[in-house]
Amino acid sequence: MAFNERRTSDLVAAELEKLGIEIHRGLAGTGVVGTLRCGTSSRAIALRADLDALPIQEKTGCSHASTHDGIMHACGHDGHTTMLLGAARYLAETRNFNGTVHFIFQPAEENECGGQRMVEEGLFKLFPVETVYGMHNWPGIAVGAFGVRSGPIMAADDKFEITISSRGAHAAMPHMGDDPIVAAAALVGAIQTIVSRTVNPQDEAVVTVTQMHGGNTWNIVPEEVVLRGTCRYFKPELHQVLEGALRRICDGVAATYGVSAAFAYYKPIPPAVNADAPTEAAARAATLVAGEANVHRDLLPSMGCEDFGFMLAARPGCYIWIGNGPIGDGRSLHSSRYDFNDEILPIGASYWATLVESVLAR
Ligand SMILES: [Zn+2]
Ligand SMILES: [Zn+2]
Repeated sequence: MAFNERRTSDLVAAELEKLGIEIHRGLAGTGVVGTLRCGTSSRAIALRADLDALPIQEKTGCSHASTHDGIMHACGHDGHTTMLLGAARYLAETRNFNGTVHFIFQPAEENECGGQRMVEEGLFKLFPVETVYGMHNWPGIAVGAFGVRSGPIMAADDKFEITISSRGAHAAMPHMGDDPIVAAAALVGAIQTIVSRTVNPQDEAVVTVTQMHGGNTWNIVPEEVVLRGTCRYFKPELHQVLEGALRRICDGVAATYGVSAAFAYYKPIPPAVNADAPTEAAARAATLVAGEANVHRDLLPSMGCEDFGFMLAARPGCYIWIGNGPIGDGRSLHSSRYDFNDEILPIGASYWATLVESVLAR
């Protein structure tokens, strides 16, 4: 998982070296960047894959299921890594382009912002590029098809944590203290009004409480309850609207119930916003691979998030979805029964290679 992809990082570096591709290691710890130059052009682009797995016990029953207890590739990042290595191999062997390609293998896409760390540690200073491209498998889009759109494609993700502190009490004598559980329950309800009453109805936003921790036995009103959750949105200005509303509700509920509430808002990930020209280049490459009828340009963006947003904030580029086949039976991303569809490996690798050959045409 995040920043512990040591074996994968070694494997990727070894495969790139075998192909005679120059490698750079150590960005964001386990990150690997491979550089392939061809011809005389000074133009350069970057292609990015992610390396990390998730803390889920795999229940696919597949012969290739994870052998690491409680850890599986439930988002298909192993497939992404394989597709980019496939493209690197093809491009190193055929060299039918003019310019430089940087193959970015980033750690810690899930939750820990490995993409942000790579950018902060100088990714685009060490490897200057005009555009950067990402790809993610997408259950629900057919095998052999792609989805891509200009503008936002994945949402921003801000995280919040609220710690409600009180004096606690004997469960039978609640009047002797204050009750953080009742306050937390009111808070969860009040938070639902942010999207319905504070955000402009024509803007997309989600505020979800995902964790509620408090208490440890039947007869004690605890002294503390911790709530955590996430906000998703596309318009950057909603960051302040959502943070402000959460703070206001937090303070108000705390005052109402006589408890104190510490509020933290952190780890914001920007929305992944595709730039127009790179999106056209990506759609052209996808069309060459899959045919026009199989490149969907009219899909709605996802409220899911992707730390490729940090790379798209630093350089113009495009993030594309490659069809993983039907979702069927709850086998969505981040499900214990998710399985990356190996049939799409050559399709994804072909997309990457075609993109390089068309953007950096000889
Ligand atoms: Zn994921
Ligand atoms: Zn993913």
